[in-house]
Amino acid sequence: MFKEVFKMEISYLRISVTDKCNLKCFYCRPDNMEFIPHEEILRYEEIARLVKAMTKYGLKKVRITGGEPLVRPQIENLVYLLRQIPEIQDIGMTTNGITLAHHAEKLKKAGLNRLNISIDSLKPELFYQITKGRLEDVLEGIKVSKKLGFDPIKINAVIIKGLNDNEALDFVEFGIEYGVEIRFIEMMPLGQGYIKWEKDMVRPLEEIKTKIEEKYGSLIPSFSVGSGAARVYEIPKYKAKIGFITPISNPFCDGCSKLRLTPEGKIKLCLRTDEEIPIKEVLRNGTDEDLDKMLKKILIEKEISNLKIQKSSYAFSDCVRVMTSIGG
Ligand code: SAM
Repeated sequence: MFKEVFKMEISYLRISVTDKCNLKCFYCRPDNMEFIPHEEILRYEEIARLVKAMTKYGLKKVRITGGEPLVRPQIENLVYLLRQIPEIQDIGMTTNGITLAHHAEKLKKAGLNRLNISIDSLKPELFYQITKGRLEDVLEGIKVSKKLGFDPIKINAVIIKGLNDNEALDFVEFGIEYGVEIRFIEMMPLGQGYIKWEKDMVRPLEEIKTKIEEKYGSLIPSFSVGSGAARVYEIPKYKAKIGFITPISNPFCDGCSKLRLTPEGKIKLCLRTDEEIPIKEVLRNGTDEDLDKMLKKILIEKEISNLKIQKSSYAFSDCVRVMTSIGG
C-alpha cells in the first residue's frame, strides 16, 4: 500500500556529527551559539545503527559533516564503522580543511572515499575576514589529500554578492592548477534568527557561468561522482569540472530523497523548513522493529514535506537553525 503512494526511498544521508567548529564563518554561526551537551550527541555506534537500518530503503551514500567533523575526536572510527556496512558504497566528508593535513591519512585508511572542502575566498585576508581562519592551512590539507589519492576533491565556494563574486575566475584557475573540482553555491536563507538573509546577497550563478564562458568558451554539460544537487560542466581544454548549486535561482527539490541527521539525533527533512523528527530515543532504547517503524514514518513525512515545498515560493524558508547546527 505505502509503496503505491510513496517512493519509500532514501538515496542519501548527510550526517552531522557535531555543532562545534574551529572556524567562525560570519553567515554560518552566531558568536553566542549554545552548543549541544555532550550526552545529547549521538554516539558513532548509534549513527552506524541508523545507517544500517536505512539501507533497507536504498541508502548507499552518506556524507559526514558538521559543524566541523574533524573536531570530533577519532572521527575516523565512524568512517570505519560505516565502511563495515556492505550496502554503503560511498562515504564522503565535507570539511573546512583547517586540520585536514593531520587527519587525511587516517581517514583514507578508515575508508573515506571523497572529500569536499569549503573555501569562500582565495585571498588570505578576505578568507580570514569571512572565517577567522588561515587559508594556508586549508591549502596544505588539499595538497596532502591529493597526494594520498583522494579523487575527486571538490571545493565548495558559497558566493555572496559584493563579497567574493569577483573571484569566480580565480576559483576556476585554482581548480585547474590544483586538479580539484570547483562548486559554486548560492547563499541560502538559513539561520533566520541570526543573519537577515536578503535576496541581494545572492548572485545568480548563471551570471558566474556566463563570466567563465567569456574567458574559457562554452562549458560542456558533464557529470561528477556524487554530484548530488550540482549541475556539473567541463572546460574541455583543461578537463576541469565546475558545478553550480542553485537552491535560489533554480531550485532542485523535485524527487528529493535526501535526509539530514543532526548531531543530537533528529532527522531533518529539508533545509528549507524546521521540520525535524527526533530519532535518538528509538536509536538508544528501541528494538529493530521500533526503528523500522520510525523510518517508515520518516519516509512518509519526507514525501509530504516535498509536496509542501514544491508549492512554496523560491526563497521561502522558515529554517531558524544555522547551517553549523544542521550539517551543511
Ligand atoms: N565545517 C564544514 C565545512 O566548512 O565544510 C562542514 C559544515 S559547513 C556548515 C558546510 C557548508 O555549508 C560550507 O561550505 C558552508 O559554506 C555552507 N553554508 C553555511 N551556511 C550556508 C548558507 N546560508 N547558504 C549556503 N551554504 C551555506
